Amino acid sequence: MTRKRKVAVLGATGAVGQRFVQLLSRHPWFEIVALAASERSAGKPYREAVRWTLPGGVPDAAAEMEVVTPDPDRIQADLVFSGLDASVAEHVEPRFRDAGFVVISNAKSHRWKPCVPLVVPEINASHLDLVVTQKARYGGAIVTNPNCSTIGLTLSLEPLRRTFGVSQVLVTTMQALSGAGYPGVPSLDALDNVLPEIGGEEEKMENEPRKIFGMLRGGQVEPVSMKISAQCNRIAVRDGHLLSVSVKLDRRATLEEVREAFRTYRSPLGDLGLPSAPSRPVVLEEGFARPQPVLDRDREGGMAVTVGRLRECPVLDVRYVALVHNTI
Ligand code: NAP
Repeated sequence: MTRKRKVAVLGATGAVGQRFVQLLSRHPWFEIVALAASERSAGKPYREAVRWTLPGGVPDAAAEMEVVTPDPDRIQADLVFSGLDASVAEHVEPRFRDAGFVVISNAKSHRWKPCVPLVVPEINASHLDLVVTQKARYGGAIVTNPNCSTIGLTLSLEPLRRTFGVSQVLVTTMQALSGAGYPGVPSLDALDNVLPEIGGEEEKMENEPRKIFGMLRGGQVEPVSMKISAQCNRIAVRDGHLLSVSVKLDRRATLEEVREAFRTYRSPLGDLGLPSAPSRPVVLEEGFARPQPVLDRDREGGMAVTVGRLRECPVLDVRYVALVHNTI
């Protein structure tokens, strides 16, 4: 790498935006050159505009930068990372795309557009070919990542899907408060309580894996026909979504074969020498009562999904518990 890529962060003051700022400021390939948020924050130095909620404080590289509004005419960058609210991302991200930027978006707004890739790089990096299709049409491109629970579900399913095939999935989630952004869920709703509904989450978990596991054909992704039933709960944990998963495999397998599939799974991106990508994106942890948010969410710098409690399932074939860090 000869020079650092200049990057902008949209929604830089939010829960996802703060993670972008924290991770990008330490990344050897990137230099943050612009931070954007709403009119409420614009014009202030970042340290004043943000209510910083992560350990370690506001990174020096960002602290004194003046926050701007997300206007493509006022930003010069090689790449744009967006943690914008979906209602804003819907209109703002296409403006950046049309101005020639490549935008990496966390919002749901564009995930289902046929020429927009929905990427978990270890699973479907080939879908990034759609960036070329979009650039030809618009000048720039939008790349999306999935809903945070969906990332944990699809990564944990990947070793099984590659080895045996997966046809049906039942998943129940216990999701952290930071998944609702900041300030998020009122404290009196969260404390001493479980909220058995998260608006729109179950629909995303049931549909997004079908596109992620889909095949790229004729300039768009053809979704697979996997059947998924999801139930989502909000619990009083700070970071880390826990998922209880039961899976119907296409081909019969013993528990030992399933264990082996998890144990031997390695990142297909290993040879690229990516500085923060996990060498083991899925880690099998069979200790007592694992995985747990406080013990396992930061594995591989928060980039790995931890799988434990692997057992046969009397209804489907196999069941396990998976943990994913929701903002990393
Ligand atoms: P958040 O904490 O509420 O942050 C929203 C950000 O958008 C803030 O920087 C806010 O700036 C900015 N914003 C709001 N209205 C704006 C406007 N009109 N113009 C410009 N900027 C505006 O939300 P979040 O949890 O980070 O989520 C951001 C996106 O990522 C959402 O689409 C969410 O669904 C998705 N996501 C969240 C998580 C998670 O675990 N939290 C995980 C994956 C994906 P101000 O501070 O100035 O208001």
